[in-house]
Amino acid sequence: MNFDLTEEHRLIRETVRRFAEQEITPVAAEHDRASRFPDELVHRMATLGLLGGPIPKEYGGSGLDFVSHAILTEEVGKADSSLRTTISVQVSLVELSILHWGTEEQKKRYLPKLCTGHLLGCFGLTEPNAGSDPASMETTATRYEKQWVLNGSKIWISNATVADVALVFAQTDKTKGHNGIAAFLIDKGTSGFSTRPITGKLGLRSSDTGELLFENCIVSDSSLLASAGQGFKVAMSALDNGRYSVAAGSVGIIQGCLDACKQYVTTRQQFGKPIGRFQLIQDMIARMAVDLDAARLLVYRAGHLKNLGLVTTIETSMAKYFASEAAVRAASDAVQIFGAYGYSEESIVARYYRDAKVATIYEGTSQIQKLLIGSHVLGMKAFV
Ligand SMILES: Cc1cc2nc3c(=O)[nH]c(=O)nc-3n(C[C@H](O)[C@H](O)[C@H](O)COP(=O)(O)OP(=O)(O)OC[C@H]3O[C@@H](n4cnc5c(N)ncnc54)[C@H](O)[C@@H]3O)c2cc1C
Repeated sequence: MNFDLTEEHRLIRETVRRFAEQEITPVAAEHDRASRFPDELVHRMATLGLLGGPIPKEYGGSGLDFVSHAILTEEVGKADSSLRTTISVQVSLVELSILHWGTEEQKKRYLPKLCTGHLLGCFGLTEPNAGSDPASMETTATRYEKQWVLNGSKIWISNATVADVALVFAQTDKTKGHNGIAAFLIDKGTSGFSTRPITGKLGLRSSDTGELLFENCIVSDSSLLASAGQGFKVAMSALDNGRYSVAAGSVGIIQGCLDACKQYVTTRQQFGKPIGRFQLIQDMIARMAVDLDAARLLVYRAGHLKNLGLVTTIETSMAKYFASEAAVRAASDAVQIFGAYGYSEESIVARYYRDAKVATIYEGTSQIQKLLIGSHVLGMKAFV
């Protein structure tokens, strides 16, 4: 067993860290305050190859392994969770799904443009009445004269209003349950397809979030990703990749909290000494440090297994569950350690606190991850 990163991994970390420190961190708070989606930074990330990490070079990607993808995602996540969300959606949910399930024509049509940021993607699974239970979705795709007619809506969709192509899931035959679900790639501008922004989020404020609306939206078979009954499998495989990326981003938040706290506790003095000397402060720092290592190791283990081409549903769920909950703990303790200064909008730890929470909700809540893990351990399904 080797816990060392390779030379290439270290180089990727240094390069992305430098980029994040120079270009993302200085403007992240401003974008957060303005709830502004930073197109220019998204395109800068594309120039660096961050939007095509694990996609093979023949399709315009960077051809990186999954551990490298986690490393770059962690570094961006440390600087700005909103931008990290764009990577998670673009690369892990949309590109990897097209790579895995798409026809050669779909791969050639979409992947090079997605990897270079010429197209942005979004992933439309959640609906107003179907969140943790996506198989109960109400959006329908009805067969009509060799075409598909979509009706319904998706809600809480990241990149919704800025995306050029939406990976959307719809029910083709309710009697078949999840075996009736189909996945479609629907281009912006398709008649009957519109979007609406959602504003006023607790955190992740510079991430674009919105609704996808389908009103007699007609698409042909060429828009189908995989066959009509395979949509649920497409969604679950996408979430395996997406959760991995959310876990890596959460590691970035824990690292950011620890870095900020290490600096603060050595300079802030109370009772005539740096607060870092107090044992109750060290208790919080120690827990953060252990959580950081444990979360990162769970992510790297899942990445290593992904590199071997194995299915990592459980390992990825464990990493996502642990890392996201640990990020919430770390951010809460970081605000505590900063005291009133941590409660200010100006403070980096306040943004970590607001941004960390969503990772325990999206791409499957912590409860859903625990049910997946529990079902696996016990060999008893929790979802029937
Ligand atoms: C900022 C943001 C961005 C998002 N981006 C996307 C996106 O890009 N694409 C997309 O498709 N979705 C996206 N989502 C939606 C997200 O994936 C859902 O919110 C999530 O799956 C949970 O669904 P829900 O909110 O409907 O909660 P519900 O499913 O209604 O759950 C409510 C509560 O009940 C619990 N619960 C549900 N079922 C069980 C059970 N069987 N046992 C125990 N507890 C249970 C949940 O854990 C939760 O605590 C986003 C959400 C947010 C907030």
